[in-house]
Amino acid sequence: MEPKIGIIVCGLSDDRQFVTNTYVQAVRYSGGIPLILPLVRSDHMLSQYISLCDGFLFCGGNDITPLLFGQEPKNGNGKTNITLDLFQIRLMRQILKTKKPVFAICRGMQVYNVACGGTIYQDISQQPGKHLDHMQQSYARSEVSHRISVTPDSQLRAYIGRHLFVNSYHHQTIDAPGKGLSVCARASDNTIEALEMPSHPFAIGVQWHPECMYRKSAEMRALFKEFVLHAAHTP
Ligand code: MN
Repeated sequence: MEPKIGIIVCGLSDDRQFVTNTYVQAVRYSGGIPLILPLVRSDHMLSQYISLCDGFLFCGGNDITPLLFGQEPKNGNGKTNITLDLFQIRLMRQILKTKKPVFAICRGMQVYNVACGGTIYQDISQQPGKHLDHMQQSYARSEVSHRISVTPDSQLRAYIGRHLFVNSYHHQTIDAPGKGLSVCARASDNTIEALEMPSHPFAIGVQWHPECMYRKSAEMRALFKEFVLHAAHTP
């Protein structure tokens, strides 16, 4: 059977739980079976999710409740939902212990970082120094907006190379990386654009949206493919 990829619900509105279609399609095109994992509050169910799936995809979404990384809200912090935050952080921590592959995109990378004890600039205006506009205004989400440089000797470098252009839809950025995480890509303004865990076979977080670049970018297809391949080889 093809590897089962749990796509963790990232959107809640009214009485609905959802994920965006581009994530589902990117998993499918990469040879995985996409399974949407909804928010639940039972620890037992979290461990069932973890046994069920071979890899886990954390998607983009709203901001994380600042109290969860030890801060009170500052100007520029966006909408939050602590129930969703706690579900995703608990699930992330348990998944990381199993060494099953994790791919965390945008908010997903912030969740990854906070789950490991890292912190976030609640708005990029709080990040020291001058910064680019990381909330691009282009018509299509598949368009690229800024360059990144990938760290030599990182896992990510083996998958996507040393320099490339990516899209950018975030107003928050990583401040202190969490325990065991290393920075594996930065934008030209020094903004952290990707994190990985050297002790883990595949736990990569990216700040951009590779799922939206999937059709246009061979590098993003390679990245998803590696994720699904790692999931296929999960013991
Ligand atoms: Mn960016």
